[in-house]
Amino acid sequence: MDYNQIFNKIRKELEKLPHKGKVADYIPELAKIDPDKLGVHLTTIDDQHYCFGDADEKFSIQSIAKVLSLAMAYKQEDEKLWKRVGVEPSGTPFNSLLQLEHDNGKPRNPMINSGALVVCDVLVSYLKNPKEEFLEFVRKVSGIPDLQYSEKIASSERSMSYINTALINLMKYFGNIHNDIEVVMDFYVNLCSIEMTCKELAHTFLFLANDGVNPYSKERIITASKTKRINAIMQLCGFYDQAGDFSFKIGLPGKSGVGGGIVAVHPGKYSIVVWSPRLNKQGNSSKGMEFLEMFTTETKYSIF
Ligand code: GLN
Repeated sequence: MDYNQIFNKIRKELEKLPHKGKVADYIPELAKIDPDKLGVHLTTIDDQHYCFGDADEKFSIQSIAKVLSLAMAYKQEDEKLWKRVGVEPSGTPFNSLLQLEHDNGKPRNPMINSGALVVCDVLVSYLKNPKEEFLEFVRKVSGIPDLQYSEKIASSERSMSYINTALINLMKYFGNIHNDIEVVMDFYVNLCSIEMTCKELAHTFLFLANDGVNPYSKERIITASKTKRINAIMQLCGFYDQAGDFSFKIGLPGKSGVGGGIVAVHPGKYSIVVWSPRLNKQGNSSKGMEFLEMFTTETKYSIF
């Protein structure tokens, strides 16, 4: 498949469409990003690479990191994890408080903020140095040996984390946060602060397209069964109250972040990352959605 030709065609189509949405501004550091950045990188499991635009510029991966913390916690906890967090789509915004009270502090899934905070709590419980050990895990998965957290982005988010503070307090009240709230929150804002390029992120997610094994290093990150289940969670919950729409239009498991990134995985074939910072009202990259819809329509490569 000549992905370059398809990318060019889509790029021309996108240029005809108006710019939609705006950059995330509730995290002050993210409000500074140039809204018109556009980068795409596709990596196949047999080591082919296709890219264009700002694919080599680092951006804040934000909620995309929730998939990596989930992989690490699931690996450790096995099926016990689901006692603390569910696997059902929420149909609510990523930072919603609504269902938590009704569900006695058990988040619907690990892709919304409440669920990701519980996953962080699980990791804080069993890791000696959570921040260092998680970073080590992401370094291994991504193949970026000098990867760091962005202190600037983490502290910017920390200064404005009123809703996440409400979520974590509510869950603490219900007994679903076992550690100190400040420690869990600090871990969460740090993992959201990681920055990668489209190319690096596509590489990082390739294990989910290859039954849990990084096809280049041949290292097994998680089992094939857990890979299937993480992909299922991304498919059903990766885009919050737009998960159905993403599934309907794109037809791949994926995850978005408020930094404007979207990663999507085609099991057995490739992972693709689009970065475009203007977000729609559900907090997902507007152009990223448009690009991927055209891409899976044009290539006919979706899981359906
Ligand atoms: N760090 C962000 C937050 O907690 C992540 C949200 C996102 O990317 N959807 O609000």
